[in-house]
Amino acid sequence: MIVTLRKEATEEEVEKLFAFIRDAGYEPRLVKGESKSIVELIGSGDLTPDDLLKFACTEKVHQIQKPYKRISLEGDRKPITINVKGRIIGGEKLIVFIGPCAVESYEQTDGIAKLISEYPVNDQIGGYILRGGAFKPRTSPYAFEGLGEEGLKILREVGDKYGFPIVTEVMSANDVPLVEKYTDIHQVGTRNFQNFKLLDALGEVKKPVLLKRGMSGTIQEFLLAAERIVARGNPNVILCLRGIRTFNDAYRNDVDVADVVRLKQLTTLPVVFDPSHSTGNRDAVIPVSMGAVAMGIDGLLVDLHTNPEEALVDGPQALWPTQGKAFIESINIIKKAQLEAKKYYITAEEARQQS
Ligand code: PEP
Ligand code: MN
Repeated sequence: MIVTLRKEATEEEVEKLFAFIRDAGYEPRLVKGESKSIVELIGSGDLTPDDLLKFACTEKVHQIQKPYKRISLEGDRKPITINVKGRIIGGEKLIVFIGPCAVESYEQTDGIAKLISEYPVNDQIGGYILRGGAFKPRTSPYAFEGLGEEGLKILREVGDKYGFPIVTEVMSANDVPLVEKYTDIHQVGTRNFQNFKLLDALGEVKKPVLLKRGMSGTIQEFLLAAERIVARGNPNVILCLRGIRTFNDAYRNDVDVADVVRLKQLTTLPVVFDPSHSTGNRDAVIPVSMGAVAMGIDGLLVDLHTNPEEALVDGPQALWPTQGKAFIESINIIKKAQLEAKKYYITAEEARQQS
């Protein structure tokens, strides 16, 4: 349940409510908002909305309907933001997660980071996070599976050299402590989104988690996977749309970018989009990313390579350096337009109230 507090509520009144909630076996969590503050009841017990409405500080009580209770955008909850070394994910500006699919060598990673270091940070683009896999999930046992810890060291070193936070994939619960040592954000890949031991382990770490949608995952399953991490104690989960498997063979995956609109209606978590893995085609990356930005995405996760023809993983979807620049310019223009257009946006409920 979520209790919305009256604006005039005193500290003493709120303390009384907290004591009552604790006595009933829940943990109260105060979330202060700009216009309204709320108290969330964590855990389970037998309290009803009427029990909470009796308190002087209570304005209203909302009973959460969705099974993903902690991340559901209900009552007076607001979307959260996640601050990774000053990059605010879920804020007004786009955050771009960019780099090679796999860390191949120091020189390769350094060359790509150098390109990114020349990209602009402005009112539209809030900053960059260097991506690169050290542990690569490959179906073929003969494919390049990443450099392991050596790859983590390279990504960390290059990230620090250029001042970029880093994001990298963790494939098993056993590897979580090792990856936590190096990374700023843990990535869970599409093939692992229902690896519950991994999700549970990530619920117990301090660093945020970028959770990719399972390639056959429904939105409800996606949100429940995120809820699992949050329920274990890590509130900082970023959802990443990356395409799903359907009958549509236009691209590597069916591009699920419009689902950002739905996710934003349902959850408090930030949502980013991966145009590279969803399309598998570098010529589609820029237009599809522009669409995602127009639809209100919080960030983009993009493959970039200095020499895609020689890339050890996912070369056909990696942007060429000149395309990288064009990509940034394009999303910058669309973000400007999106911020302007957003001023006119009105929900169906608001429209109903006004008519
Ligand atoms: C990746 O981002 O490198 C990756 C393997 O993505 P996905 O899990 O979406 O296939
Ligand atoms: Mn890849």
